[in-house]
Amino acid sequence: MIPYPTVEEASVALGRNLTWFETVWFDYTATRSDFYVYCHTILVLFLVFSLAPLPFVIVGMSDWFDRFKIQPKIKYSLSDMFRCYKDVMKLFLLVVGTLQLVSYPSTKIAGIRSGLPLPSLMELVSQLVVYFLIEDYTNYWFHRLLHCKWGYEKIHRVHHEHTSPIGYASPYAHWAEILILGIPTFLGPAIAPGHITTFWLWITLRQMEAIETHSGYDFPWTMTKWIPFYGGAEYHDYHHYVGGQSQSNFASVFTYCDYLYGTDKGYRIHKKLLHQQIKEEGEAKEKKGGTKYD
Ligand SMILES: [Zn+2]
Ligand SMILES: [Zn+2]
Repeated sequence: MIPYPTVEEASVALGRNLTWFETVWFDYTATRSDFYVYCHTILVLFLVFSLAPLPFVIVGMSDWFDRFKIQPKIKYSLSDMFRCYKDVMKLFLLVVGTLQLVSYPSTKIAGIRSGLPLPSLMELVSQLVVYFLIEDYTNYWFHRLLHCKWGYEKIHRVHHEHTSPIGYASPYAHWAEILILGIPTFLGPAIAPGHITTFWLWITLRQMEAIETHSGYDFPWTMTKWIPFYGGAEYHDYHHYVGGQSQSNFASVFTYCDYLYGTDKGYRIHKKLLHQQIKEEGEAKEKKGGTKYD
């Protein structure tokens, strides 16, 4: 709840006029409790889980985009994708929703605010960068730990059921994995607490990134290719392709952890062999074309 009864009083308290976004935020949240505002996190997650993978479903309905498929031999039907979505939604309601509700006190302790002012662009961007770096590093180690014999067989095996992932499979995992990997996601906002809107933007971007890396497509025009050290779809797809034995590509967002700790060797060899194979196939085609006119 915002402790000012009117926009004018809020302006006086801030020492400036409210921005358009702040006025909208004031109108919506002034008379609502902090808990009610916080519960919107569930709505944000539900919308992201439901809508963000849809473009990849549409792309999958046409053969035209098959040239960008990372594992072109694997095809999923619409009913396969819908089944995956239903499983994810069940998990969402039982685990993610409940977790969000009970974690409200921890957001208060951490100091995530919901009043005015809204974060500046500088605060927003710098906090998002910090959250991504903290999540990526911590997730790397948690994920690597889940690949030990016990962790894989009891928990992480579920996420690896898709050897060729799809967008809807990004949050598809054992309930315990959702809880474990929730820690790296919340760690950034706990260390560098910001506004609740920053928190929503953070979980939206993180989930969209996970959906893209599980999409099964490597589009050359993807904007994320401009981000330094960004792993992307092909990078994480290889981790699923290798499956349970995979000791490669553990990182969730960037590639530097795998490089530093030497867990990208398998992937680098795979890329080298793939490159060589494409080169040899190209040369064989050229040779065939040449002999046609001999
Ligand atoms: Zn894994
Ligand atoms: Zn995955």
